[in-house]
Amino acid sequence: MNPVAPVKPFIARGSRIERCPRCLLGQRACICEYKIAGQAEACFVLLMHHNERFKPTNTGRLIADCFSDTKIFEWSRTEPAPEFLQLLQDVRYQPYLVFPEGDDYQHRMVTYDGSQKRPLFILLDGTWRQARRMFRHSSYLQGLPVITLPELPSSSRYHLRKAVEPGQLCTAEVAAELLAMIGDGVGAEVLMAYFEVFNEHYRAARLSRPLNEEMPAKGFLKQLLELASDVEHKGHGTIIDQADLHVSPEAAAGDARVQ
Ligand SMILES: [Zn+2]
Repeated sequence: MNPVAPVKPFIARGSRIERCPRCLLGQRACICEYKIAGQAEACFVLLMHHNERFKPTNTGRLIADCFSDTKIFEWSRTEPAPEFLQLLQDVRYQPYLVFPEGDDYQHRMVTYDGSQKRPLFILLDGTWRQARRMFRHSSYLQGLPVITLPELPSSSRYHLRKAVEPGQLCTAEVAAELLAMIGDGVGAEVLMAYFEVFNEHYRAARLSRPLNEEMPAKGFLKQLLELASDVEHKGHGTIIDQADLHVSPEAAAGDARVQ
């Protein structure tokens, strides 16, 4: 290797577009106004492959936009973040490593038992190949119970990246399925609505067509955001009229936590 050879910088496709620094979408397609920043009944931890970090098509960060206590760590094979290891020891949480079932780790497979502890779902955020490598080669993950989704929907609604296998979901969809599995229907709905808005904006920008403002997902998120801002103005003790909002009373309690 010639040490003085000029290094050609890596330029991603579409890198000349001016992007929103938060959602990484083009300025015109920015989805930040729909960001809920609430709290789900589970906590999510993303171990992110470093290639994912600046990819605009990464859906892991949508989870963090919806639920502000989501933790994102860059994956390292041998040097996990100390904060990640602390979370695994935290008595408030029951950690679950989310991964498909496999013959050679049957003894680690568990099902959600509705325990008192808040579930801590660890998601391996990368391509399927990267996730498999992360799962197999990180010694600090070997002792963790592994949980898989009960029944995968027939196909992903995410079309920006090709799934390697049919039925394979993107990271945000997996998180929404996990919330539905533990009974947090509102959390799942919020995440899927935000994901739909992301999909719509990403595709509209790519095809240079106008944004669809009539999507039910946008209406749903706006209602929640208005409700959250009302709660903020009136104080958290106020009882909110839920008649027009198609969410359960539990959801209203959840909304009160929205910042
Ligand atoms: Zn944005």
